[in-house]
Amino acid sequence: MSLAEELKARIAAEGPMPLDAWMETCNAHYYATRDPLGADGDFTTAPEISQMFGELVGAALVDCWIRAGAPEEAVYAELGPGRGTLAADALRVMRGAGFSGAAHLIETSPTLREAQAKAMPDATWHDDIDGLPKAPLLLVANEFFDALPIRQTIGEEERKIGHDGERFVFEPAGGEIVESSEAIARYVGGLAQHLIKYGGAALVIDYGYGRGETGDTLQALKAHEKVDPLAFPGDSDLTAHVDFAAVAKAARDEGAATTGMLSQGNWLETLGLGPRAMALAAKNPAQAEAIAAARQRLAGEDEMGQLFKVMAIHRPDWPAPAGLGA
Ligand code: SAH
Repeated sequence: MSLAEELKARIAAEGPMPLDAWMETCNAHYYATRDPLGADGDFTTAPEISQMFGELVGAALVDCWIRAGAPEEAVYAELGPGRGTLAADALRVMRGAGFSGAAHLIETSPTLREAQAKAMPDATWHDDIDGLPKAPLLLVANEFFDALPIRQTIGEEERKIGHDGERFVFEPAGGEIVESSEAIARYVGGLAQHLIKYGGAALVIDYGYGRGETGDTLQALKAHEKVDPLAFPGDSDLTAHVDFAAVAKAARDEGAATTGMLSQGNWLETLGLGPRAMALAAKNPAQAEAIAAARQRLAGEDEMGQLFKVMAIHRPDWPAPAGLGA
């Protein structure tokens, strides 16, 4: 039975499905059955655009670690590491600055774990943050929270997915939509508890917004095109914009500190994306144009620079990662 048939049968038996259950089921199938990244896949992420992204993330994390007194037991951790590209680029910089902690990757997809093992042969994998060692974390989550399930409500009514005999349909179809995510709040709460107990800092990078917004941000991507989010269950990448105010609240409710939120473009440029691009281009003159184009994609206002945001969560006695302020 295809996933679409399974979902149709489930709706016939149990009635319309809340959006969060739909998103969880579809994305679990989606990520378990493919490597979705890159030109041949459905979407391209910042670390796949250029090594500069992971290098600057690594520089920010290792700088934070040094300012925290370089605790030896600290580990690198990442949520949803994709192909492991970000981890490999970040750790290369961190190792160069004296960090020798282990790498812990949180990943549920067996297909992506395999890809990660090629880039990060010495890493340890976990299904959930519960599995992380009792040690200070230098953690990054890039385009992870956008894949976690959200709920949508219209007035008092929860938005669900039904089937009209021909296709999957939203019930109710329209109205003013408000989104929330118990899954994100739970995840961030658990992460904050870990940081409070054992120390550390976490960078959250994703597309999203800072103040509570209303409106439908659910989207589906397939072969780099936006498609109807109900048309290809388990076969398109379902995401929603991340509510950074809700992330900050979930972290602070546990006693963790949060930084301000910056656009990805501002943050990367503040950390030295320009000089890094020039140094790379000087070493590889034939690549100069490609490197300049990658900088533009990562930081340009009309590209990822403005849409993507960065925020950090840290234990109050740990320093805030560079460039983010209080
Ligand atoms: N961070 C990577 C990949 C982003 S795609 C990059 O920037 O390239 C989202 C990643 O999160 C994938 O690796 C996916 O398998 C993983 N993922 C999605 N839902 C998850 C969950 N509930 N628990 C753990 N990993 C999950």
